[in-house]
Amino acid sequence: MSKPITIFWFRRDLRLDDNAGFYRALKNEKNVLPLFIFDRAILDKLANKKDARVAFIHNEISRLHTELKEQGSTMLVRYGTPEKIWRELMKTYTIKSVYTNHDYEPYAKKRDTAVASLLSKKDISFHTYKDHVIFEKDEVVKGDGTPYVVFTPYSKVWKAKLKSRITQSGETYYLKPYPNKKYFKNLFQTKPEKIISLKEMGFEPTDQTIPNRSVTQKIIKNYDETRNFPAINGTSRLGLHFRFGTISIRDKAFKASRLNETFLNELIWRDFYAMILSHFPHVAEGPFRAKYAQIEWRNNEAEFKAWCEGKTGYPIVDAGMRELNTTGHMHNRVRMITASFLTKHLLINWQWGEAYFAEKLLDFDLASNNGGWQWAAGTGTDAAPYFRIFNPYTQADKFDKEKGYIKKWVPEFGTDEYVGAIVDHKEARERCLRVYKEGLAKAEG
Ligand SMILES: Cc1cc2nc3c(=O)[nH]c(=O)nc-3n(C[C@H](O)[C@H](O)[C@H](O)COP(=O)(O)OP(=O)(O)OC[C@H]3O[C@@H](n4cnc5c(N)ncnc54)[C@H](O)[C@@H]3O)c2cc1C
Repeated sequence: MSKPITIFWFRRDLRLDDNAGFYRALKNEKNVLPLFIFDRAILDKLANKKDARVAFIHNEISRLHTELKEQGSTMLVRYGTPEKIWRELMKTYTIKSVYTNHDYEPYAKKRDTAVASLLSKKDISFHTYKDHVIFEKDEVVKGDGTPYVVFTPYSKVWKAKLKSRITQSGETYYLKPYPNKKYFKNLFQTKPEKIISLKEMGFEPTDQTIPNRSVTQKIIKNYDETRNFPAINGTSRLGLHFRFGTISIRDKAFKASRLNETFLNELIWRDFYAMILSHFPHVAEGPFRAKYAQIEWRNNEAEFKAWCEGKTGYPIVDAGMRELNTTGHMHNRVRMITASFLTKHLLINWQWGEAYFAEKLLDFDLASNNGGWQWAAGTGTDAAPYFRIFNPYTQADKFDKEKGYIKKWVPEFGTDEYVGAIVDHKEARERCLRVYKEGLAKAEG
């Protein structure tokens, strides 16, 4: 029988250093062999074979593979459905234990339960750790132990907890980096395996530009003043890297906590939505507040198409959608405006918009995307009340005063070629108020 090994399973934590679960595996075990599975249950659903996220992951896995090779080890890279792959691995190797980091999405939780049960039949232990967020699940809860559903009190307790443990050397305990490198000697020493190519999985390289893994101190320092203006480069563009763990949240939260409170607040929103998804998985299927299920969406397909293509005749909405379609990114202010427009002006079910963003956003993350959409539609936890309807014109006047953003993405703006507005703002606003009110009245019986 072969030498017993421990497998560390990488998922949304694609880095070797400051990685909680990987650290525990290296520290507690010997012969640690890293693994990544290109999950067909996810990949087979992607219609776009040039999906930039798949190319990005493939690149990052190749990078990790090279880094591990330098340590005399390798990264096992498999392509298939996780349960099937694990059955095969159990036949090939003598596995003592498996380590990985928590993933809070409903599909991931189901997958991990199934894998844990499979492993337990062979007495293989399965250890999982918090890595993706600063505080998870029940770490920040109300006095009575129930989860917060409103952001402000949650963020206050979050910050108090962060400050509550300072180590002897003056470090914030919860943001301390894990020194993985110290234990690289416990990596399984073996010949490097060949990695499956993008092409072999039916995908191709992307034309989209991947944002940098780092952000200047200047951007974080000025974040509170610049973050609302889509024409300027005033946000970090780190979303994709947080999503796939190519950077550590502890590192960035540490810097943010010193440089800019507003930036730290955004990272807390990320924890907040991950916590909401973990406690209330039903949000992935429908409104957080059940009574909003009664709203009679118009769901006009031609209008949805116009929204997707950036042809609504509302310049700030169209600019946002075109930025998304071209780059895989949309500025946060504009995400709020386009989402509000779809759900309120057009009365299209927020789940249609959620799915479209999920397909296009490089930084797509189920918890934050769902949270953002339910916020905009007024159906969510800490949602904007339904009667607060963004006016796309005044939003543009305020946040894109010089029209720099609009002109960049809608070059025909101001000419005869630009389409007329698909709905009248005042009429759409009144219709929205009426339909929401009727839906809620119906729910209340
Ligand atoms: C309708 C809608 C959909 C959204 N979909 C996503 C999504 O799929 N993935 C995603 O990461 N964010 C999503 N957001 C939140 C936010 O728009 C993006 O995180 C942000 O625009 C990413 O750009 P950035 O990296 O430059 O962020 P920065 O402004 O530099 O913020 C730094 C980081 O903080 C986190 N963050 C910032 N704002 C939020 C927020 N409101 N909620 C949760 N986390 C936040 C992100 O990880 C972000 O990278 C959505 C917001 C809305 C209104």
